[in-house]
Amino acid sequence: LLRGKEVNIPGLEKLHMPSTKLAGLYLAIIMAISLFFSANVYQLSLQEFNRGLMIRNDVITPGIPGTGALELIQNKLQAEQARRYADARDRVVVRLVLINLGILVGGGVLSYYLARRTLRPIEEAHEAQSRFTADASHELRTPLAAMQSENEVALMKPNLTLAEAKSLLNSNLEELARLTALSEGLLRLSQLEHGTMDHQRVAVDDIVQRAIDRVLPSAEKKHILIHPKGAKRLQVTGDVTSLTEAVVILLDNAVKYSPEKTEVVVSARKEQRTVTITVRDNGHGIKASELPHIFDRFYRADAARSKQNVSGYGLGLAIAKNIVDLHGGKITVQSAPGAGSEFMITLPVRV
Ligand code: ADP
Repeated sequence: LLRGKEVNIPGLEKLHMPSTKLAGLYLAIIMAISLFFSANVYQLSLQEFNRGLMIRNDVITPGIPGTGALELIQNKLQAEQARRYADARDRVVVRLVLINLGILVGGGVLSYYLARRTLRPIEEAHEAQSRFTADASHELRTPLAAMQSENEVALMKPNLTLAEAKSLLNSNLEELARLTALSEGLLRLSQLEHGTMDHQRVAVDDIVQRAIDRVLPSAEKKHILIHPKGAKRLQVTGDVTSLTEAVVILLDNAVKYSPEKTEVVVSARKEQRTVTITVRDNGHGIKASELPHIFDRFYRADAARSKQNVSGYGLGLAIAKNIVDLHGGKITVQSAPGAGSEFMITLPVRV
């Protein structure tokens, strides 16, 4: 399977372009605002400065017609005023240019940071979607390729016996069953991703009993005993079919990943505002490094993958998690290699 290896996802690198473009757009907005204020500050400060000069003019030359000496003083004064005005204007311009350069640099960094932050969830969703499609195609291809090669080999035999033909058909049927299970899993995931849940009062005992009934045949095959334990008559709000499905997934895994003649305990307990359903097994457990991934779609721990007889696509826990999420609950796990696993579904009790 592709997980764990470097997967080159086409289109992902293209997503880096928009972050520069978006950063450019943010920076353009910041600079437009900054330049607008700078232009106003420039105009206002020069107006104010001019007003100050005019008041001084009024005080010093109160409308008396100029004599020679006075005219000289007035001319000198005007020249000095013009120099000061130009000086003040230059200083304002330099200050505003420096401020805008600072905003350009600071705004550039900030814009890039903001653009990355804005696009990160979109990138992640895109990456997850691409990986999902790659994983799904890979899983679909495996049984199809197996069927194709088996059929080709059989057709090349000049005298195919009836027994051989039957065995081929049986093998084809097995692969078809795998494909059907896979497509059902995919369909269920897609329904859950866009769905909502019924919210009715449901008895936890009812959910647990229905789930046990569903996994009993496979548990009996491995001589595994399933014990229901814990408080009776607990109630949660939700959709009974989906909640049963989630518990079935946990029980089914407990049976699949446990050796023969072991025990699985399914219990329920109430805390203040939650009800927790726990499925505990004495199976081979899960490595700490694998624990964070087991709820991901298509993830199968190495131990499960290497055992060819353990069927599955790594969709079960992802489906269970989606169901629990839609109920506003949490699904957690505690496990260690050789020490068994404990999966807990914690659901809020709505009044
Ligand atoms: P599947 O069982 O189809 O492989 P799941 O999504 O149900 O997929 O489980 C993902 C992986 O988590 C399994 O492949 C297995 O490695 C691990 N796992 C789940 N439940 C258990 C368990 N009770 N004991 C040990 N490993 C488990």
